[in-house]
Amino acid sequence: MFENIAKEINANLKNFCTFKIGGRGTILFPKNQFEVKRILNDCKKNCLDFFTLGNGSNVLFPDGELKKVIIDLRKLNNIKITKQGTIMAEAGVRLFAFNKFLEQNGFAGFEWSYGIPATIGGLTFMNGGAFGEEVSNYIKKVKVLKNGKISWINRKNIDFSYRKSNIEGIILAVEFKFKKTDSRIIAEEQRKFFDIRKKTQPYDKFSAGSVFKRFDDKIPAIMIDKAGLKGVKIGGAEISTKHAGFIVNNGDATSKDVKDLIGLIKKRCGNLECEIIILE
Ligand SMILES: Cc1cc2nc3c(=O)[nH]c(=O)nc-3n(C[C@H](O)[C@H](O)[C@H](O)COP(=O)(O)OP(=O)(O)OC[C@H]3O[C@@H](n4cnc5c(N)ncnc54)[C@H](O)[C@@H]3O)c2cc1C
Repeated sequence: MFENIAKEINANLKNFCTFKIGGRGTILFPKNQFEVKRILNDCKKNCLDFFTLGNGSNVLFPDGELKKVIIDLRKLNNIKITKQGTIMAEAGVRLFAFNKFLEQNGFAGFEWSYGIPATIGGLTFMNGGAFGEEVSNYIKKVKVLKNGKISWINRKNIDFSYRKSNIEGIILAVEFKFKKTDSRIIAEEQRKFFDIRKKTQPYDKFSAGSVFKRFDDKIPAIMIDKAGLKGVKIGGAEISTKHAGFIVNNGDATSKDVKDLIGLIKKRCGNLECEIIILE
């Protein structure tokens, strides 16, 4: 099983997520789309569950052993400009690299995403967004591996909603459409958005971004702040004093600490829906 595929068995999951929390698990590092396909075949044959990992910036791993096999897509990291002038990025491309590419080649519109520590695949799956924008606004089509078959799905056939898509299977690549502008203007805009992010979010601490989704007109961070919960700690996990929508890991937080803090917030603020993906 998983022959000639790079892997780490009994890996420390802390090293594979921005929360820096987690126990142990098996991680596979396919270097191309064919290896991803082969891994899925092996999983099916051996009745193994798998979890697709981007940059781990929206996940909470368990403290113990993760029974699912993790497929880490970060080696799928090619970006190119197509003949039609669109941008094709593989799922494992990190947003920092993607934004650098857009800046250098004068493609504008995506500056708002600068600083989100995601991959293209993760951002697309989650329909990530900020400052009133969403990644789905710029997508033309998505390449997906599902039931052993690779196919491109047009944007109009995908349901994107707030921090959600109905994409099934593994995203292998995404094609985008952007406007052309002067690189200096793009760099300036990127810096502007990154500065706001660093000023308003606990960017220097380990976290997985906003823990809860917004709903109706309600903003969880404001509700948590109003409930007087800013700065409340359980073990090594703390509700950020800078942005109450974030839970930060002060260094030795466990998954249980974070889940207990989430439980406390829900008890005090009502039944908020988690944005972060909690793995057991
Ligand atoms: C400091 C900080 C700031 C953040 N700011 C924002 C923000 O402004 N806006 C925002 O929307 N989010 C934000 N986030 C959250 C996070 O970055 C996003 O949810 C992001 O989209 C997750 O991308 P990822 O590659 O890290 O995915 P992961 O966390 O690795 O995975 C997230 C989900 O996507 C799935 N997935 C990943 N890759 C694929 C793939 N190729 N195919 C199918 N499914 C896949 C996973 O299985 C999982 O269910 C922030 C996080 C941090 C730590």
